[in-house]
Formats: sequence, C-alpha cells, structure tokens
Amino acid sequence: MRRIEVTYGDRPGCVFVRPLRGDDEESVVDADTWSAIALVDRLLVDVAGAACGPGHAATLAAADRDRVLAAVYRAELGDRVASTVTCPACAAQFDLDFRLSALCAAIRPEAEAAAAITAGRYRLADGTELRVPTGADELAAALAPEPERALAARCRLSGDADDATIADALERIAPLVSTELDAVCPECGHAHLVRFDVQPFLLARLLAERDQRAAEVHRLARSYGWSLSEILSLPRGRRRAYVELIEREQGAR
Ligand SMILES: [Zn+2]
Repeated sequence: MRRIEVTYGDRPGCVFVRPLRGDDEESVVDADTWSAIALVDRLLVDVAGAACGPGHAATLAAADRDRVLAAVYRAELGDRVASTVTCPACAAQFDLDFRLSALCAAIRPEAEAAAAITAGRYRLADGTELRVPTGADELAAALAPEPERALAARCRLSGDADDATIADALERIAPLVSTELDAVCPECGHAHLVRFDVQPFLLARLLAERDQRAAEVHRLARSYGWSLSEILSLPRGRRRAYVELIEREQGAR
C-alpha cells in the first residue's frame, strides 16, 4: 500500500492506494477522465483517516488525482517516462525521455497566484473567490456545450473574473502533472514543444499493453494451470516476476 499526500481538496491529507493488478489494467478502456477516475476508485484503499476512500475518487481535486496517477506510474511502470516523437518538419522519429520524479518535484503551486481562504478555496487579487475543481466538476463540464466555460463557472464562487483568468489562476494554484518538453529533431534540428500529461499517458500505456498482458496470462496459464481470474488478481509486479521465472527456466533448457 502506498501513501500519497493530497493538498487541494476540502480535506487535505493522505490517500492510500494498493498495487495495480491485471484486472485493474484490463478495466481501462479509454484514456479519458472517466477512465482515470474509475481506475483511481479501484486502487484507493479504505484506511482510517484517509482524505478519500474507494468510490469517492471523483471528489479528489484534479491536481491531487494527477499526483495519485503519477505515484501509480512511478511504482508500476518506473520513474523514467519515454516516448517516441515524430518530427513535424521531416517526419523523423526520435526518443524523448525524462524522470517523472523530477517533473513532480518541479511542479509547485504559485503562492502569489491567490490567497488561500480555506482548503480548496482561494481569493484572487480582484476579490473573485474560487475553488479547485474536482473530478466530478470536470466530468460535468465535459458534457456541457462549452466545457471550459462550464468548468470556470463551477469553480467561480463569487466575483467576476473572466473564464480565462480563472483557468489561468487554477493552473497556477493547483497545477496538474503536465509539462511541455523541448524536442529538438536530431535529423533536421527542428525544435518543437511536446506536451506531456500524466493522466492520458498512463492510461494509454495500459491500453497499449493489452497484447503483452494477454501473452503473460497465456504463459502463466500454460505453465501453472491458474485460472484467468487468479492470474488477473495478481499484482502487476508479481505477474511479471512469474513470467520472467518461466522464461528464464525455458531459456535454460
Ligand atoms: Zn526533423
């Protein structure tokens, strides 16, 4: 079980997540916020005093949910984030990588962006009061005709700062685990920015591993005779360790 600090909600404190299992990985069908909240809901553990327990992931502030997802990524997929980038100028492909721990350490809320009134509530310089959006706010706004406007309206508690000012303030008060990486093409030297957001990146990785997961299940079922549900209930790390043992043994023959 892993403990993660949450900062931005009505109840700052800690949440606890258990290791990722095969059935959790298989439950991911999309890389959107609905899928992210559903995954976090599965992983949260009911611990006395936790700021948020299973079934309540939608009440987590979006910035806190990102920190949970970043912790899951680091624990299960490693600290190094690597992706293949296609140069927009010459179409050459090259690798880009960075450390997620370094990104998380660099993302700091800007204290001067607003004054904190209470946990999760802030006052801007012009007197506008706002709150940090939760997953539930994001989901409701996503269904509105103008999602960005709807999200700003949900976060504006009083005052008349415009939507862009609110969006900008929220980005600085409660930043998501995202960044823009400088990518310079090794072939033609073209420089461009590549966006990284932990939520879609983690979910896309789990989706992309479906075939590999099937091969691992197949190998364990063949070797040990375990049922599908037994194999999918294994923590990801254990499943991979067993597959490695089988492969090593077969390689030694
Ligand atoms: Zn290029």
